[in-house]
Amino acid sequence: MDCIFCKIVAGEIPSKKLYEDEQVLAFYDIQPKAPVHFLVIPKQHVLDGAAGITAENSGVIAHIFEVIARLTKELGLTDFRVITNNGADAGQTVHHLHFHVLAGRKLAEDMG
Ligand code: AMP
Repeated sequence: MDCIFCKIVAGEIPSKKLYEDEQVLAFYDIQPKAPVHFLVIPKQHVLDGAAGITAENSGVIAHIFEVIARLTKELGLTDFRVITNNGADAGQTVHHLHFHVLAGRKLAEDMG
């Protein structure tokens, strides 16, 4: 499958890993939009953004949010934003479900 995040999971493309377990991978975004910007993804390919979440794969989403809570604590972040883009107009460029975690400065109040 021609998916850049599947290739990162497989180790075919290098990434700056922050956390990994059997279900999820967290790595720093290659084009950070804030001083801290990392992505948390399910290792299994879930097509698209929140629209790809189903009863069958939603367990990993709960796990992703546990990982986000743990990582932000470890990094000493109390103020951060979690974003998932769904579709081109929302800014989605990679079609493998992922959650952006942004922090390290005052984030824009206009999320639109
Ligand atoms: P989105 O635009 O919401 O689909 O987010 C995709 C994100 O993946 C963007 O912020 C990209 O900068 C990031 N990205 C693309 N390729 C890589 C890569 N090889 N390593 C790390 N982040 C990447």
